[in-house]
Amino acid sequence: MNVPDLTLNSGTTIPQLGFGVYQIEPEDTVEAVSRALEIGYRHIDTAQMYQNEAEVGEAVQAFGREQVFVTSKLNNGFHRPDDARRAFDETLSKLRTDAVDLFLIHWPLPTLYDGDFVSTWQTLVEFFRDGRAKAIGVSNFQVPHLERLAAETDVVPAVNQIEVHPYVGNDEVRSYGQAHGILTEAWSPIAQGQVLDDPAVVEIASAVGRTPAQAVLRWHVQRGDIVFPKSTTPSRMQENFEIFDFSLDDAQMTALTALDRGEQGRTGPNPDTFDYVPD
Ligand code: NAD
Repeated sequence: MNVPDLTLNSGTTIPQLGFGVYQIEPEDTVEAVSRALEIGYRHIDTAQMYQNEAEVGEAVQAFGREQVFVTSKLNNGFHRPDDARRAFDETLSKLRTDAVDLFLIHWPLPTLYDGDFVSTWQTLVEFFRDGRAKAIGVSNFQVPHLERLAAETDVVPAVNQIEVHPYVGNDEVRSYGQAHGILTEAWSPIAQGQVLDDPAVVEIASAVGRTPAQAVLRWHVQRGDIVFPKSTTPSRMQENFEIFDFSLDDAQMTALTALDRGEQGRTGPNPDTFDYVPD
C-alpha cells in the first residue's frame, strides 16, 4: 500500500496517513508504534502532553529514525519562550533525535499568557531556523489566530492540526489554510469512533465494500487532509492503513460532507476557550 507524500511549505514532505498515539499508555506505546511501523505507517503523531515521547523515540530508533516522520507538540504550560526552549530540548532528547520532522504549538490558549501566542510561535521559528525542527506548525488555531501570525511574523505554519471528521467539517479554518499554503491535519478523524455507526457512513461503506472507518478515512484523504487515526488493536491498525486502493465518488463525498453539525459536532473542546494546563 503506497501512502502519498504531501509537500509542506518548508519544502519537506509528510506521509498523508500516519499513526496517532494520544491516549496510548507509555507502557503500551513501544509495542503499538512498532506494530504500526511493521504494518507500514511511516508517520507518528505524538505530543509532550501524551507523555509517551520517550517510548515513541525507542520504537522509532529501533526501526530506523530516518525512515519515519515524527511530529511532536509543545505542551500548554510551556508557551513562554524560555520554557518552550527547555521543553523542546527535552522532546528531542526523549525522541532520541537531533531534529523532529514537525513541531507544533498544541493549543493557542488565547485566554492565557495575555493572549500572546505570537512570541511562542517566534520561538518555534528559532527551532526551524536552527534546523532542529524541519517544519513547524500549529494546532487548534482558529482563523483570527492564523491572521495574527500572518500580520506579526514572517513564517507561515506548515500545518494546522484541527478537529475534523464528518460531524465537524471545520471548513472556514480549512479554507484559510488552503488559501495560505497551510495543510490541514484532521485530528480525531473518525470522531473517536462516534461516526462509525451513522447510517449514511454505514451505507457508503457497504456500497464500496469497505468498513465505516475506511470510508471515513478515505473521505479525509480525498479532501487533501492528513490523518493519523489511533488504535492499539492490530486488525484495526491494519484496516485503517488500507485506504489507498479504492475511492469514493462525488455523491458519496458530498453525502459525508453533509453530515456536518458545526459546533455541535465537536468531540473536543473549542480552541477559543480551551485553557487546560497540565500539572
Ligand atoms: P480517532 O478518531 O483516531 O479515534 C480513535 C478511537 O477510535 C480508538 O480509540 C478506537 O476506539 C476507535 N477506532 C480506531 N480505529 C477503528 C476502526 N478501524 N474501527 C472501529 N473503531 C476504531 O481519535 P483520536 O485518537 O482522538 O485522534 C487521532 C489522533 O489525533 C490522536 O492519536 C492524536 O495523535 C491526534 N489528536 C490531536 C489533538 C490535538 O489537539 N492536536 C486532539 C486529539 C487527537
